[in-house]
Amino acid sequence: MILLLAVVFTASCSKYQEKTSEMILFGTTCRITASDKADFDAVWKRLGELEDNISARSEQGDLADLNSKAGQGWVEVSQDLYDSLKIALDIASRSNGAFNPAIGELVNLWGIVDKHPDVPSESDLAAVMEHIDWHAIEIKDDDGITMARITDPGVRIDLGGIGKGIAADLAVSLLRKQGIKSALVNFGGNIMCLGSHHTGEPYRIGIQVPFANRNEYKQVVQVIDQSVVTSGPYEKNFVGSDGKLYHHIIDSATGYPADNGLASVTIIGPSSAICDGLSTSCFVLGLDAGTALVQSMEGYSAVFILDDGTAVPVGISL
Ligand code: ADP
Ligand code: MG
Repeated sequence: MILLLAVVFTASCSKYQEKTSEMILFGTTCRITASDKADFDAVWKRLGELEDNISARSEQGDLADLNSKAGQGWVEVSQDLYDSLKIALDIASRSNGAFNPAIGELVNLWGIVDKHPDVPSESDLAAVMEHIDWHAIEIKDDDGITMARITDPGVRIDLGGIGKGIAADLAVSLLRKQGIKSALVNFGGNIMCLGSHHTGEPYRIGIQVPFANRNEYKQVVQVIDQSVVTSGPYEKNFVGSDGKLYHHIIDSATGYPADNGLASVTIIGPSSAICDGLSTSCFVLGLDAGTALVQSMEGYSAVFILDDGTAVPVGISL
């Protein structure tokens, strides 16, 4: 009887304690806020594996291996890489190549992920532009053996445009399996919510004012079980030796950073990987073609912010 009372007492007193855990993964600060009952270490461990499997920058990883075997036929790949390539190829097809997973050599040429990016020469650019066709990437599943091949020896895959989204989806599914009902995942600005806030209110996510101070918000969207992902030139950019500002989302039709009147694109929807891919795509496509793409995707909406600061909602009212 005393034991029973003790159990009841503990249950009624156990208050919800929130904890935020951080880790550097995918080249950015990843943050999870959830009940302190969550096993954060298990999530980070699995996400570290994912990073090795799908990041072109993980030297010992699965994608680095596939890239090094470009032009050499089928390569057995992890389920992580297979699933990620499947999403990437689907978005490439839907966006007419605006999202281009074969953009690796172009990203390398611009030096976007290293410390000293600069504008490439016209001849280097022309050479690399010959090897960025995403149709050179193929996948197949032979009775559970997941394989991929790159048919052009000059093509290198880069999944940087969806990596954080894939990681955010995985984090939420792992937390859900642990029995966690409410969590906020923020992987370098890729937001994904598990359920609603533990108070029962929707999560309120701010869409940043492009180029303003962090935490200055243009709009706030309220979401439950959804992801909010923004692509824009204001986080990762550099001033070239010609004095112009360049950023990290490249239009593979021109070989240059996308420049079509958009300051940012935010996508809201159920899969963070798809939101991530769509935001990169729409940033390249611009307002009109981007709007058509979002409208073709059931369950997804967007907020385009134009260079003059105007916010244009698609499938959502602000
Ligand atoms: P962020 O990392 O700032 O959220 P994105 O998700 O939009 O930005 O992805 C940008 C990254 O995607 C670049 O660093 C590069 O690795 C890759 N990338 C650049 N341009 C494209 C493109 N047109 N299609 C697919 N991936 C791209
Ligand atoms: Mg993206």
